[in-house]
Amino acid sequence: MFVSEALSVNDRGHLVIGGCDCVKLAEEYGTPLYIMDEELIRKNCRAFRKGIEKYYDGNGLVLYASKAFSSLAACRIAEQEGLGLDVVSGGEVYTALKAGFPVDRIYFHGNNKSREELVMALDNSIGRIVVDSYEELFNLDGIAGSKNKCADVLFRIKPGIDAHTHDFIKTGQIDSKFGFALETGEAFDVIRRASKMDNINVVGLHCHIGSQIFDIEPFVEAVKVMLNFISELKEKLGLEIKELNLGGGFGIKYIPAHDPIEYEKYLEAVAETVKATAKEKNLYLPKILIEPGRSIVGPAGITLYAVGSVKDIPGIRKYITIDGGMTDNPRYILYEAVYDAVIANRADAPRTEKVTIAGKCCESGDLIAKDIDMPEIKAGDILAVLATGAYNYSMSSNYNRIPRPSVVLVKEGKSRLIVARESYDDLVRNDIIPEDI
Ligand SMILES: *Cc1c(COP(=O)(O)O)cnc(C)c1O
Repeated sequence: MFVSEALSVNDRGHLVIGGCDCVKLAEEYGTPLYIMDEELIRKNCRAFRKGIEKYYDGNGLVLYASKAFSSLAACRIAEQEGLGLDVVSGGEVYTALKAGFPVDRIYFHGNNKSREELVMALDNSIGRIVVDSYEELFNLDGIAGSKNKCADVLFRIKPGIDAHTHDFIKTGQIDSKFGFALETGEAFDVIRRASKMDNINVVGLHCHIGSQIFDIEPFVEAVKVMLNFISELKEKLGLEIKELNLGGGFGIKYIPAHDPIEYEKYLEAVAETVKATAKEKNLYLPKILIEPGRSIVGPAGITLYAVGSVKDIPGIRKYITIDGGMTDNPRYILYEAVYDAVIANRADAPRTEKVTIAGKCCESGDLIAKDIDMPEIKAGDILAVLATGAYNYSMSSNYNRIPRPSVVLVKEGKSRLIVARESYDDLVRNDIIPEDI
């Protein structure tokens, strides 16, 4: 009935997540409110882990791409489920460290890590650094040398694969700001140089072809390209690649028309391709890493809003305005992302009209869903936008000086705050009025 298996309806017709009545949660915590279903997050973690155990003898590690939803509680859950962590900034490293995440399971990505971030990674013995540019490699070699350390690195490679997704979330093609290109010889050249550096240990390769991908085929193609390259490195440099990180990007169901791949099937196809190609080319079987972000937390989250105004423009469009918008969910304004929604206080009402759900920010593009079929909505209704667990809280802003909502974790009828709502004081905390104005 709903796009997410975390949801159901109780006998009062209210939407239920994690055994909790959403109308009651809205009353208790206020709106807007992010809610995350703990069981579903854990189930998704386990599905990926099981795939690696079943099809690749457990010779791999699932890294939770924490940028999808970075918080202390999310890091803690990933740690408890035996996952590693993909981080992309000093702030995400800091969050992981504060959560007590084991450093050897942290992989540090990012296409422009600062000197401070590289120092932070080395000082805290972060497991792997994924090198994205020549400058970064030279910096890292120098910093590691000054600390008498050797950095274990992966190299981000552009495998030249078209991932059939939105242009802004495609990353594997040559025209991308991320990583080193294969076609131009750049990838080979950087690794050749790195292999001669005293303070760099070349452990593996990484690629990430994009996000919200629904086909298995581009992933399988990427595996073949990467193994060819591994073979070339072995032949020409005598270098053995021990880790192959294939990134994330598995699509989720935002609307009923979306049909995500089964993650186990993806892992089966990828594992078979790695094994077959490695055998054919007489290669060491690399440890496989994957980095799901969206697919772990996305379906587990919803956002509750209070409906304010309803504006029916005859013959044009009916706007429903909510008490949040692009500040807590910028995905429509960024790439016209699609969402499904439910009236939490009448979750089983039939969908009888087309409406556009708009936010309260001073931007006409501040929409959450355009022209979607909904039951008749009135001011005071509680609207639940579904599958908002990924790239909502983590992409939120204070535009229009709107405080970020709180995040609540639900399980078996219990709700616990994991991120507190920002206050107006939080908004002015870093403001300074200079004495001379
Ligand atoms: C964004 C990103 C991920 C996670 O992508 P999802 O679509 O959330 O699964 C994994 N690895 C890298 C390097 C990324 O940039």
